[in-house]
Amino acid sequence: MGIIRNLSAYLTRIRPNLFRNHHKLIMARRLHASRTVGVDKNVWVEFTQLAADYKAVNLGQGFPDFSPPQFVQDAFCKAVSGGPQMHQYTRAFGHPRLVKSLAKFFSRIVGREIDPLEDILVTVGAYQALFCAFQALIDVGDEVIIVEPFFDCYQPMVLMAGGTAVYVPLRPKEGSTVLSSGDWVLSAEELASKITPRTKAIVINTPNNPLGKVYKVEELQMIADLCIKHDLLCFSDEVYEWLTYDGAKHVKIASLPGMWERTITVGSAGKTFSATGWKVGWAISSGHLIKHMKIIHQNSVYHCATAAQEAVSHGFDREYELFGTPESYFQQLPAMLHQKRQKLASCLRSAGLQPIMPEGGYFMITDISSVKVDLNDENTENETYDFRFVKWLIKEKGLATIPVSAFFSPEHRKEFDKYIRFCFVKENSTLEAAEEILRKWSQKE
Ligand code: PMP
Ligand code: GLN
Repeated sequence: MGIIRNLSAYLTRIRPNLFRNHHKLIMARRLHASRTVGVDKNVWVEFTQLAADYKAVNLGQGFPDFSPPQFVQDAFCKAVSGGPQMHQYTRAFGHPRLVKSLAKFFSRIVGREIDPLEDILVTVGAYQALFCAFQALIDVGDEVIIVEPFFDCYQPMVLMAGGTAVYVPLRPKEGSTVLSSGDWVLSAEELASKITPRTKAIVINTPNNPLGKVYKVEELQMIADLCIKHDLLCFSDEVYEWLTYDGAKHVKIASLPGMWERTITVGSAGKTFSATGWKVGWAISSGHLIKHMKIIHQNSVYHCATAAQEAVSHGFDREYELFGTPESYFQQLPAMLHQKRQKLASCLRSAGLQPIMPEGGYFMITDISSVKVDLNDENTENETYDFRFVKWLIKEKGLATIPVSAFFSPEHRKEFDKYIRFCFVKENSTLEAAEEILRKWSQKE
């Protein structure tokens, strides 16, 4: 009996290794394609798992921990029970009802007639709209200028397309106390100096993740002038377009003269209707650009879930009717988030941390250079300061945030490794749990 028990315990121990190493037994050749090299690390994969492992209060990954508004939930339920068609393939480039709703809604915003069939591509979240843009429009050897801090997927997407990423950081204004994301500015000279004959596109994100900067029209005009002068494309990631505070106004660079023809505007129903798991996004642009993106889309995912598209379409139709009124979700969501933003800011201040107030989006960053902690975890020794700090915060204090250097290029990472990002699109109870952790911690110091 003892021998059998020992043998079975031994097998249980070695089984995972047998499976893990199985490929080594059957294949000797290199398995991975070159495009997977150098893009293996992913901050969401790493920190979302760590937050779950330590059951931390999660102000890390950006998703609401509350439900989407009732009207889109109802629309989704109605779609799901709306007959066989709702469960089958729909048009590859966007469910007909949704592209019509998007075209109607955004024609009014951009101030031009958007063609539902030519100028819109519905994608699996904003991620896939970005992926299609890079794959369809960036070639081997092309340079792509990315303004930092940037949403982290732009860099691997440029690399996977065979392009070269070139970085220009937004920097805190010199000499002044930096209290707002608006105090981080882009130098026109520095941006212009990065343009070469190989430059194909400039990537911007407004409102910016993680900083919360909402580009002013003059800043967008400066970028637009360079795009026009050097015949460049602009990829404008505007997933947080409805989330602005304290009078900041979101402007679409595509609406500036001469920019429609060269701008891909990316949006997300996940952010728009607080339903990140639905993974419905879109790219809007002139048909002569969208047609190339359609090729990548039709040969990769083909289309995204029909019922989710139907529900998003109902959401936009409702918003079209209520636009600018207090009943509009595009008014209600920022109003609710404004409160949460204030709550998080005062909680950080009371813990001795100075928040950089975001003008938009649902993230807030803070400088941690004055916080004294003993980061003695040997496992994280070779990592940047903010990565080590956030890991310590999760493991020792049970609070998850995101290290801001993940949004910078390797060459600028060191300059910006003393900030962490908090997400405030959370229930008040979650924000209060975070507050409690910070309060206890600051009292002990
Ligand atoms: N762009 C930015 C700036 C983001 O923060 C995110 C994360 N949601 C995305 C794109 C991807 O959006 P989606 O979830 O719709 O794919
Ligand atoms: N956009 C989200 C954020 O910034 C997360 C995206 C993801 O988890 N891949 O937190």
